[in-house]
Amino acid sequence: MLAPLRQSVSLRHSLVLANRLSKSGILTNPIRVASTLNDGASKAHDHSVHFKIERIWAAGMVPIIPAAYFIHNPVMDALLTIALTMHIHWGVQGVIADYARPFVLGPGPAKLANMSLYLLTGLLLAGLLHFNTNDVGITKAFEMKMVKFKKMSQEKRKKWQKVKNGKRSNRRTFFKFQNMKKETQNQPKPLNPSKDAKIRKRGEFLVINPPENSIIPSCEHGPCLIFGQKNGDESTWHYVCAVYRKGECDFRRPYLEASEAEPSQNLEKKDPRYGAILKKLKTIPKSSKILFCAECMDIFENKHHCVCQYVKRSQLRQPSRLLSALENQNGEAQYLFSKESLDQLCLMILSSTVDAVVCVGAPRLYETLRRGMKHVDVFLLDYDTRYAPFSPALKFAQYSMLVHHFYDGKAKRRFRTFLKKHSSILVICDPPFGVFIEPLLQSIGKIKAEFEELHAKSENPVFYGCFVLPYFVGKHVLKSDASYWMSDLKITYDNHKDFGKPGKSPVRIFTNLPKSTIQLSSMEDYRFCEMCEKYVASTNLHCFQCEKCPSKDGSTYRHCNRCKRCFKQTYNHCAKCKACHLPKRCHQKDEEEEEE
Ligand SMILES: [Zn+2]
Ligand SMILES: [Zn+2]
Ligand SMILES: [Zn+2]
Ligand SMILES: [Zn+2]
Ligand SMILES: [Zn+2]
Ligand SMILES: [Zn+2]
Repeated sequence: MLAPLRQSVSLRHSLVLANRLSKSGILTNPIRVASTLNDGASKAHDHSVHFKIERIWAAGMVPIIPAAYFIHNPVMDALLTIALTMHIHWGVQGVIADYARPFVLGPGPAKLANMSLYLLTGLLLAGLLHFNTNDVGITKAFEMKMVKFKKMSQEKRKKWQKVKNGKRSNRRTFFKFQNMKKETQNQPKPLNPSKDAKIRKRGEFLVINPPENSIIPSCEHGPCLIFGQKNGDESTWHYVCAVYRKGECDFRRPYLEASEAEPSQNLEKKDPRYGAILKKLKTIPKSSKILFCAECMDIFENKHHCVCQYVKRSQLRQPSRLLSALENQNGEAQYLFSKESLDQLCLMILSSTVDAVVCVGAPRLYETLRRGMKHVDVFLLDYDTRYAPFSPALKFAQYSMLVHHFYDGKAKRRFRTFLKKHSSILVICDPPFGVFIEPLLQSIGKIKAEFEELHAKSENPVFYGCFVLPYFVGKHVLKSDASYWMSDLKITYDNHKDFGKPGKSPVRIFTNLPKSTIQLSSMEDYRFCEMCEKYVASTNLHCFQCEKCPSKDGSTYRHCNRCKRCFKQTYNHCAKCKACHLPKRCHQKDEEEEEE
């Protein structure tokens, strides 16, 4: 009993002493002092040296941790690993030295505690080293965690601000969009960029229309599109230009920042001067010569101070030819339908017996219909306002086709009147070749919804759609709406070096018009298929197993009995992956298969 009693007295004595010392500010660690007093002078010396090293080590870690946020390499990983391990080891060792003393636990358990400390330290070191060599490494992991945390707190802040502003509708939209974003991220990608590489070179992406009533930033070309890009597992969301591609307009704003942007502030309002040239033309006597100035975008009688050209009256009724001739000199051009393709489209419209046609991004078809098919009412929706002075105000609206945006409220109302006036309508859309098809389909869907709303009480309103697209883009139209079908008719363009010749053009018509409206009996290279009840390329042979004329590009396909489908001649059945694909493309089997 004597020894423990003496020890406890000594302990109390040392605690009192330690307390006093700490109050006097000489030492900051009373318990540590207690232990040194108890363990003898030589050990006290050891411990204080050890204590100093530990403090220096801890101080050394102060610059390492922030540095680790910026520098990610194996050396930094190793440095941080050793620093952390030693820091933790000494920390726990201190605790064990203070609490797991032989006289408290007995010599056996105290030794065990010490041994388990070394074991734990060893395991920690091994674990961290393993993580460094076989995973991203601790510095990178730290950064990834920080980025996620930052994003989360940003989102929370935005949400809180919305709540604080008390704008209920915006708030609802915001949360709705948050959910929508999650949904879209979870959805399988509707596009496969590797397949559409010819026209899509932006990497993995997804484009969605901003939800109704949300705050949408604008670039100088109007409201933006939300553009999602996948980088490994991370998805980034930005607002980008809805009219021009990267390089032509580099506007880009992260989605989260954009929700606070002022909408449409940088849109300059310019009078489109609807029908100005047509009106002026009526005032110029037939005997006078007419000058067209592209600079002033106007016509003049006999003389004008700019460098300009004499034009005939008929030329002013075909502005696409007049303007494209000018563009070619400057090296930039819109692609415009060739005469053959225009004739076919006009025949199609004629046999569809619709009252009215809306041309979306198809100015040449618009002017052809206005000149040649007077019984069909036509409306042009185009981004290019240069067509406005050549067109009556009632027939033109500047329009951004991917975001269904009218730049002029009056023109929007005129378009609504146009939709209301006609009970059978065909919308023909000739988008740029690299178009994002999903938002375009949504825009046409909105026109359709407006038409149906206006004709809710009509007896039999008819709304047809027609898209002119490369076949590898148009397949998304077929997927999204089963009533659409593809015509084998090759659409050609006047001023495109490849798509000018029928042999090379991949552009086709995708429509839900009756199949009988595309009549190609007068054309070479097409034949009528009795089974499919439509005209097909003469080389597109009917397959009785597939029960269709299977070719997409018009070439003759070959049926594979094992795959139970038709494929291009260049595809062979591969015994290894039990599928048909191009030679040496085994690993890309899935993509190739889907393309067919
Ligand atoms: Zn832009
Ligand atoms: Zn001029
Ligand atoms: Zn057939
Ligand atoms: Zn077949
Ligand atoms: Zn096969
Ligand atoms: Zn294979």
